[in-house]
This record gives sequence, C-alpha cells and structure tokens, in this order.
Amino acid sequence: QTKAEPMRVLVTGGSGLVGKAIEHVVKQEGGCLEGEQWTFLSSKEANLVDLQQTRAVFEKYRPTHVIHLAAKVGGLYLHMKENLHFLRDNLRINDNVLQTSHERGVTKVVSCLSSCIFPDKTTYPIDESMIHNGPPHDSNFGYSHAKRMIDIQNRGYFAQHGRRYTAVIPTNVYGPYDNFNFENGHVLSALMHKTYAAKKEGAPLQVWGSGTPRRQFIYSLDVARLFLWVLREYDEIDPIILSVGEEEELPIKDAVEMIADALDFKGQIVFDTSKSDGQMKKTASNAKLRRYLPDFTFTPLSEGIKKTCDWFVNNYDIAR
Ligand code: GDP
Repeated sequence: QTKAEPMRVLVTGGSGLVGKAIEHVVKQEGGCLEGEQWTFLSSKEANLVDLQQTRAVFEKYRPTHVIHLAAKVGGLYLHMKENLHFLRDNLRINDNVLQTSHERGVTKVVSCLSSCIFPDKTTYPIDESMIHNGPPHDSNFGYSHAKRMIDIQNRGYFAQHGRRYTAVIPTNVYGPYDNFNFENGHVLSALMHKTYAAKKEGAPLQVWGSGTPRRQFIYSLDVARLFLWVLREYDEIDPIILSVGEEEELPIKDAVEMIADALDFKGQIVFDTSKSDGQMKKTASNAKLRRYLPDFTFTPLSEGIKKTCDWFVNNYDIAR
C-alpha cells in the first residue's frame, strides 16, 4: 500500500485573526507534519470574488486541502447599510472557492461559519441541528445567509460528488492580530484599545451598552488547534460548533474587568446605555465537540485576555 501524499494546504483569509493563529500553530507549535506545504493567502494576492483569480491561485498552489476563512466582513453598521452587497460578495467568494476546490479534486475543505448565522428567535442552548430553524438576526441577514449556504453547498457536494467538505462555527473569537479599531472592532479588541487609550489620557473607559449581554469567548489559538483537528480527523459533513461550555458564557462587564486588570487600568468604567446591547445572549452548546474531544483544554479567558493585551501593547504600531 502506498503512503498518502503529504497535504498541500491552502488557507484563504490567511492574514486575519484565525488565519494568523493557524499560521502560529502550524509554524511554532509543530502543527505541520513532515512534507506538508502550507500557504496562507491574503486578499492582496487574490480577489476571491473573481472566479478567474480564484482559479489562478488554485492553479499556482495546487492544494489537496483548503481551510476557507476568507469573507467580506464589516462592522454592525456597515452590514446594516449594505446587506445586499455582503450577501452577493460572500455568495460569490464561497461558490468560487468550493466549486474550484471540487473541480481541482481538493479532498477536503473546512470553511469557517459564524455564530451570527444562528436563528434569532430560538431556544437555548443552540446546537448544530438548529442552524436553519428560522431567520438570523436582521442586522446582517445578507452575510448570515451567505454563510448558511456554505453548509447547504457542503451537503450538495457530498450528495452529488461524495466530497467531504465541512464547516466549523466558532463563537466570539479574540486574540492577537484582531481588528482593534474603536468603531469596527469586536467587543474585546475594541475595548482593549479603548482601555489603553483611557489609561494614557487619564480618562474614564466608555463601554457600549449595559455590560449585561453574555457571550462565549474563544481564544484564537484554541480555534486554530481545533481547526487542525477538524482538518485531520473530523469526518462529518455537518458543521461543528467550536466553543467553550455554556456555563462559561459571561457578561461583557466581567470581561471588561479582566481587560482593566490586564492593562492595569484603575480609572472609572462607564456604561453608555444609549448604545445598543445587541443580542442579550447566543448560548451555544459544545456538547458535540466534547463528545469528540472530552479532554481539550481551553485557554482561560483571563489568560487569553492578558496575552492579547500584551500583544496589542507590544505591536501597537502594526495592530489594525
Ligand atoms: P456580537 O457578539 O456579534 O454582538 O459582537 P461584538 O463583539 O461586537 O459584541 C457586541 C457586544 O459588546 C454588545 O453587547 C455591545 O454593547 C458590547 N460592547 C461594549 N463595548 C463595545 C465596543 O467597544 N465595541 C463593540 N463592538 N461592542 C461593545
């Protein structure tokens, strides 16, 4: 029996939060096996909305496996203004990547979905069987529906061609290389930057909303380690939620205290309740993940926050 040839893995969206974390695990934590070739693609190298550019990049790297992270994303307000735009660009990116993978004989694709695809009106906890049970939240229906279609397409590639293309659904991801922008960053990274600035200016820290909405946060390097497991071991077409347990969903204000501790911020913390709270909770079940990996250790939130704050302070000049 001949040995399988080593994987050639193409990671789309390779310069983002999760892509950078996978690169770290592959290059610094021994995540790369002998003979494997890993390519981290950035949007600068190819515009995946364009089919010809997508084909050219697959021709160049000839991947046997694809981790598909690339997506057109924006902040809440941009999504609300341009839902159609996010729907169309993401439908095209996903169809280009999946169909080109199929045509070139890629044996496995692992795509990244998002917990914003969950139905807005639902019972909790949400699990993998409930994704399509009712419309997602209205604010970013374009982006969410495009992401949901990846799951439908995966089912189709298996039914019609026997392809094992699958997807993961991480809950709120944070870590080094995140977008730390005040306006457009996600909650932890934006608040790290705001805390850093408030400390420097001796000003109070302004947190948006009441601080009571609850979230499950997962450290980007944990997501990366789990991605490698999914790529190598997970054999289902159905998606899998990558999250800490339900009991670890915590109020934003608890996370704010961890950030204040990590950055040694002793000033006043103000909750600006004129800003929207968004969804009050999105509790996801990690029971499926736990059935496969009962012993996986998640990075404790306070530790991940400390590491991310240290990274931000040390990389202030290059941080987004
Ligand atoms: P979501 O999980 O999809 O809602 O995404 P976010 O990461 O943007 O988290 C939004 C929650 O964090 C809401 O409850 C906001 O009110 C709260 N929040 C508090 N301060 C900030 C901030 O500076 N930026 C963001 N994005 N959210 C904040």
